[in-house]
Amino acid sequence: MFKVPPVPASRLPALLRAMPKAELHIHIEGSLEPELIFALAQRNGVPLPYASVEELRRAYAFTNLQSFLDIYYAGASVLLHEQDFYDMARAYLARAVADHVAHAEIFFDPQTHTARGVPIETVINGLHRACEDARTELGISATLILCFLRHLSEESAFETLEQAQPLLDKIVGVGLDSSEVGHPPEKFARVFARCRELGLHLVAHAGEEGPPAYIWSALDVLKVERIDHGVQAVHDALLMQRLAQDRIALTVCPLSNQKLQVFPNLADHNLGKLLDAGLAATVNSDDPAYFGGYINENFTQVFAATGLTARNAYQLAWNSFEASFASSADKRNWEHQLKEVFERCYEHDD
Ligand SMILES: [Zn+2]
Repeated sequence: MFKVPPVPASRLPALLRAMPKAELHIHIEGSLEPELIFALAQRNGVPLPYASVEELRRAYAFTNLQSFLDIYYAGASVLLHEQDFYDMARAYLARAVADHVAHAEIFFDPQTHTARGVPIETVINGLHRACEDARTELGISATLILCFLRHLSEESAFETLEQAQPLLDKIVGVGLDSSEVGHPPEKFARVFARCRELGLHLVAHAGEEGPPAYIWSALDVLKVERIDHGVQAVHDALLMQRLAQDRIALTVCPLSNQKLQVFPNLADHNLGKLLDAGLAATVNSDDPAYFGGYINENFTQVFAATGLTARNAYQLAWNSFEASFASSADKRNWEHQLKEVFERCYEHDD
């Protein structure tokens, strides 16, 4: 790997913002800004229990995963038509381009929408069209990962997979999200086995609030290729070894962890520990509209709070490309661009 010389602390935030990166943990419903929720509510004639954008923004003062999920599902209620899903994804992708995201693997929760009577093809076609248009119009690569809601049954996950079957060419993989504690990965063993047979990539949220045991079963029972969050792995030395040896990427979301009280003080975040242990950690935004920042905010704030270095920055961006489900050719191309941005940064040295 490229040997990264030190960068003065004053220049680090600019470098973090400018470096190309992949975003591997973004829930598209969690990118819905209050302004867009209001615009879509008006367009679709959906009444909202908030009088103004400001009032809705103030309601974002949740304190844990469950109270966040309650408002998250309320926000999603304005999404009814294919164009709504398109507009939501387009808004995120434009924001991601501004943060120098070269590639995004976007999570979506079909059950949140099908439960309200929105057909799954409305959801997938709208999101997929936004990804296709963004490639040509914005120059960003973007793919979709269908997530099963883990607080629902495995039977419901199977129904969702069945509905998605004719559209599987529009997604690259499946994931597992929503309330973690009490819903261990093994609850979804059979549906993940089926998805594996279908040739889909597999990821799962594990070890956000849940114990290391959930990470073990995500790996050994579900056979996932990446762990979403995974920060609780530090409590299990054997698991840390396994994650490092097998180069299992963790999609870490610092501002989400802070907001949901996993690390109430960002200075205590263990991202540096994960990197020091040789784990393929990455930085991502999770639900940026709700957690106070898109990917660059996550980078700059966690670096400022924990004193991570330029070498860590390079490693995190490189990990994000390596851990993506993009082609090898695309990965090499982005990693080359990453190296160029770092080299240019040193050319300005006196
Ligand atoms: Zn998440």
